[in-house]
Amino acid sequence: MRLGVDLGGTKIEIIALGEGGEERLRRRIDTPRQDYEGTLRAIVSLVEQAQAQLGRRGSVGVGTPGALSPASGRLRNSNSVCLNDRPFKVDLETLLGREIRMANDADCFALSEAIEGAAAGAEVVFGAIVGTGTGAGVVVRQRLLTGPNAITGEWGHNPLPWPRDDERPGPACYCGRRGCIETFLSGPGMSQDHARTSGQALDAREIVRRAAEGEAGCEVTLQRYEERMARSLAHVINVLDPHVIVLGGGMSNIQRLYENVPRLWGRYVFSDVVITRLVPPQFGDSSGVRGAAWLWND
Ligand SMILES: [Zn+2]
Repeated sequence: MRLGVDLGGTKIEIIALGEGGEERLRRRIDTPRQDYEGTLRAIVSLVEQAQAQLGRRGSVGVGTPGALSPASGRLRNSNSVCLNDRPFKVDLETLLGREIRMANDADCFALSEAIEGAAAGAEVVFGAIVGTGTGAGVVVRQRLLTGPNAITGEWGHNPLPWPRDDERPGPACYCGRRGCIETFLSGPGMSQDHARTSGQALDAREIVRRAAEGEAGCEVTLQRYEERMARSLAHVINVLDPHVIVLGGGMSNIQRLYENVPRLWGRYVFSDVVITRLVPPQFGDSSGVRGAAWLWND
């Protein structure tokens, strides 16, 4: 039995998957607020309850918003700041009495979609969460691709490729640079782009809705967005040559992306034909917790 834990800033979710990936149990609780010890205890109690209910011991995979620093073994870049710079993995392993595996939420998303979701069976998969931020993971033959810096797939803070003059230096990013892909492709990025060009303050969902109703200013914003996504993913295709790119996060709900972006990326990809497919997620918000469980896939 595989247990997956998705540790978020507001909720902690646990899932138990049977051998074939069937869901055996799922629970969700509030994350103890800014309480490191409390968060550890909450996860341990979710694991113990699940095992008691199902009468079996399981492997434990944990998806977190940040990533483990390979240098220190401590969490970094987590928006749940009480977790940052703490030896979270070691502490949790001590409390649970077993080795656990951890990955960030984008990695878990990519893994779930590559093993059992929209990219099931594909050899090389790039899974990108595009929502309030941009993160991604890479799965090769159903295993996460990991490297010495633990940053595989972190393309959201690369600069927007093939920038036009009016895209330079680009919007300021929280990472300290300007013009990061995230500042254009995230939901807030689309909203700010629309505000800059039209003076209208609308969130991404509203821009998409109005474009569908034929509002010209919103349509133009959405077309700019599609073209920027095409350039951003063309960069990925040139380096990784994935069979499938799966989108997740709030922006993956924009249905026209799956037709329009692949139509646009051809002019940037260094190949006469591009066979890579761009697809919506199968599990949506559940990919994170399912992918955490699939961290034990050997
Ligand atoms: Zn950035």
